[in-house]
Amino acid sequence: MNLTPTTIIAHKRDGRALSREQIVAFIDGFSAGSVADYQMAAMAMAIYLQGMSTEETAALTEAMLHSGATLSWTADNPPIADKHSTGGVGDKVSLVLAPLLACCGLWVPMISGRGLGPTGGTLDKLESIPGFRTDLSNDEIQATVAKVGCVITGASKHIAPADKKLYALRDVTATVASIPLITASIMSKKLAEGLTALVLDVKFGSGAFMKTREQARALAMSLTKTGAQMGVATSAQLTDMNQPLGRMIGNSVEVNESVDTLRGNGPSDLAELTVSLGADLLVATGGANSFDAASNTLEQHLQSGRAWDKFCEMVSAQGGDMNVPREVAPVAEIQATRRGYVSQIRTETLGQALIKLGGGRKVITDSIDHAVGLEMLVKLGDPIEVGQPWIRIFARPMSSSGCRPLVESSITIEAEQQPPSPLIVERLPPHQPHAPP
Ligand code: URA
Repeated sequence: MNLTPTTIIAHKRDGRALSREQIVAFIDGFSAGSVADYQMAAMAMAIYLQGMSTEETAALTEAMLHSGATLSWTADNPPIADKHSTGGVGDKVSLVLAPLLACCGLWVPMISGRGLGPTGGTLDKLESIPGFRTDLSNDEIQATVAKVGCVITGASKHIAPADKKLYALRDVTATVASIPLITASIMSKKLAEGLTALVLDVKFGSGAFMKTREQARALAMSLTKTGAQMGVATSAQLTDMNQPLGRMIGNSVEVNESVDTLRGNGPSDLAELTVSLGADLLVATGGANSFDAASNTLEQHLQSGRAWDKFCEMVSAQGGDMNVPREVAPVAEIQATRRGYVSQIRTETLGQALIKLGGGRKVITDSIDHAVGLEMLVKLGDPIEVGQPWIRIFARPMSSSGCRPLVESSITIEAEQQPPSPLIVERLPPHQPHAPP
């Protein structure tokens, strides 16, 4: 078979399926430098326009995953599990879920990312804890997981380097929004953790990457089928991001809300989603016989304080100190100017307001102010009166007024009450896993 980059690109351009051998040769060449960036960009466009089958997407995932290091575990380890979220505003599930699963005996080597644009990043949130390290080496990840049961850290440059290089090209060639490319990007990084089971929180709505439920479902199907093809039990949940998750948006304030949740006193939507995602993993790894039994176990760990103890153990293993106060900026409130019901929350606008306050990033090199944030005092469908505070802004004295118009434009109040939609709209069970390739 002719495996020159040009013939492989032409093959895909003409709508023919690529073989595993062609995909591996192309990605290996891209990593080694024998496939030029312009050839990879052309291939990304061909994939964007022609799509890929599940087999091709799995081969692309596998090739990108093997472009770097992977975590390795022995056969007698407990099951290895993780969750990935496609990103949302106020999404702090990872902070609660990793220790919660560790309480059930699973090992959770959670490799997370930083915030970019309106959606926040788990690493930024955790770095508001004084001393917390998010740069653990692969050896440190493995040792900490073996000791504590969980870790939350950043991806070293050794994890799926081909994805990093390819993402930079996709970003400037209008090829980010391709389901096979998104799938291979997400799955190559997650499966490098050496997982037994993975659950995906695929969000849709005004504060999510996918704006519609249909787009989210298509991505979720691609992710779960690819996971199965790679031999990993992969389930997904489609969740509504038309309002922030929980009340807090920001870094220190989201850690504080996670602490409340770990102690059994958090907002009900955050606890519900965390337990639901965790229950899928507990069932997939044989730790519970049913989704309901798994949910009960997880809820007990939140109520008993065990999840909170495990979180403190993880934080101190990663150099952090929960006893040192985390700074929160001075607070101001915004009041409603009409009465009625909350009918719309422009969640992405709230994410942009956080960037304006200094708590998020426009570009990946921006630094973050961990002390600023927002607190939602209402949810969709709530009644509201004139003069009632509906949001709190935690801001540095000079920056509060700049973000006020943005915050004020993020809510719509109408006379008629709309029934709020459920948070978890669909659960997609794992496809039958294939033997690992
Ligand atoms: N997140 C990723 O990690 N990769 C993508 O391509 C899109 C979202």
